[in-house]
Amino acid sequence: MTGRPAVTRTRPGRLWQAAWLLFALLRPGWLEARETETAATAAAEARPGCPPASAAHWQAIVPGVWLWPGAAQEIGPGNRGQVASQILLRDGDSATLIDPGPSLAHGRLVRESARCALGLTITRVLDSHAHAENVLGNAAFAAFAGVRLEASPATLAGMRARCPQCLASITQKAGQAALDGTTVLLPEASLRPGQQLASDSGRWQIMEFRAAHSDSDLVLWNEEQRLLIAPSLVYQDRIPELAQGSLLGWLAALRQLHQLRPVWVLGQQASRHAGLSATPAQTSGLAASHGYLCALAQGVLKAMELGRSANEAPELALPAYTGWAGYAERHGFNVQRAWRELEPHWMNGGQVDCTALD
Ligand SMILES: [Zn+2]
Repeated sequence: MTGRPAVTRTRPGRLWQAAWLLFALLRPGWLEARETETAATAAAEARPGCPPASAAHWQAIVPGVWLWPGAAQEIGPGNRGQVASQILLRDGDSATLIDPGPSLAHGRLVRESARCALGLTITRVLDSHAHAENVLGNAAFAAFAGVRLEASPATLAGMRARCPQCLASITQKAGQAALDGTTVLLPEASLRPGQQLASDSGRWQIMEFRAAHSDSDLVLWNEEQRLLIAPSLVYQDRIPELAQGSLLGWLAALRQLHQLRPVWVLGQQASRHAGLSATPAQTSGLAASHGYLCALAQGVLKAMELGRSANEAPELALPAYTGWAGYAERHGFNVQRAWRELEPHWMNGGQVDCTALD
């Protein structure tokens, strides 16, 4: 955009103007396009609150799909609670946002950077599940008429029951400054499995898992692009949160999602997916999450077979995962949770299917 005005400023002579006019007459479409671009650029430059680095956070996945990755960290003042991803699906000049993030301030940043950097107006917000770091950014869309906030009925019920407490909890962890002005804004309970969502990147199918990371985890699947969006089920370099979930249900959900054969998986971050042969260093978030949850389940089952008790469970270390964020804070709790769930399963002779699928 700096080249064009420079030419007209440095070559103001009549000869140059005549040549420009002749060229414009011969190529009217080109001139029109240039003028439209100039107007758009000027409008963008004139927009209030458009920082030059607006685009810095958005990763383009395929045309019409962007992801703002969550930090692979525990919630704290440094990341202001932004540990879950935000995902945009373009539809013309509009976009659907999946998860507005942890706060009013972050939701505003997402809204304004979508407008400034990508030229998109967010008209629809889908809450993936009822956890603070995913949905409290709803507050940024309160004053904007025409924006639909939507979730599953179970997610709405979960937010209604827990969000006053979850707002207090995330404020304590991320700090008052990060959560300043944030209020709980409830979505409408309009999302159902089997619904379709149209976008420039093709048709998305809405899925719901009722017993995995939470009691309602939203998943979107684009078969044409082989692109999977699973914000709450796929972690990377961060210990999964099992507090309100089901270990067996989560493992089954990941296996079912793997069987869709996605090429891209958008979870807490974006990753390419091939198979479930997981190691902690696996680049696929789906495989990595499956790997940790399998190691957890197998470790607990083995301890039961050795006759150990739940009181010894916190010692059930998984050295391969100590480098993941939240290991010190959450792994011991996950072990306790897994023990409670797996004990009756094991006593009934149940096994855990951890076979790799490539
Ligand atoms: Zn969650």
